[in-house]
Amino acid sequence: MKAGKLIVLTGPSGVGKGTLVRSLLNRHGELCLSISVTTREPREGEVEGQHYYFVSRARFEEMVEAGELAEWAEFAGNFYGTPYFGLKQEIGEGKWVILEIELEGARQIRNNFPEALRIFILPPSCDELERRLRSRGQDSESAIARRLLRAKAEIAAAGEFDFQVINDDLEVALKGLESILSLE
Ligand code: 5GP
Repeated sequence: MKAGKLIVLTGPSGVGKGTLVRSLLNRHGELCLSISVTTREPREGEVEGQHYYFVSRARFEEMVEAGELAEWAEFAGNFYGTPYFGLKQEIGEGKWVILEIELEGARQIRNNFPEALRIFILPPSCDELERRLRSRGQDSESAIARRLLRAKAEIAAAGEFDFQVINDDLEVALKGLESILSLE
């Protein structure tokens, strides 16, 4: 059996990580996605246990205190974290587990799982990122402003990652990821 792997995908909100991850999962059966817990309200169409586990702030704090999270961070006023639950088992079973997380969490994973492969997804430009964030129409004006501010800080840290992939054309970005991961 192939050895399991931990793959961290990080990049600013709106860069298209979700679409890239969904395409990778559709194409490659050996990949699976870690489902995070969050205190954010579900967006329209988001499904409990599929997009996130939606929890209260009190429950999130309990999980942090009980050491149930492999990493966690605050992002734009909400908390997000990766439950250990399932993670080690899936890697042990030979799966390649993708974590789609922000910068602070990716730094914690580097410390806790130094063997993880860490990839940063870049937008073609900051203007294009702003356009994508607005066009998805999911966030308020203040949430977009917070996400853009955070995006600039995250992009400045892209060099900390093992690989950087620019998401301009989706197919080109996917090919880039597949070649980094040595997927056929
Ligand atoms: P969104 O609210 O758009 O779903 O996610 C906001 C940000 O939180 C995104 O950059 C996403 O990658 C990140 N994120 C999602 N789950 C986790 C997690 O478990 N841990 C960390 N650190 N960040 C996460």
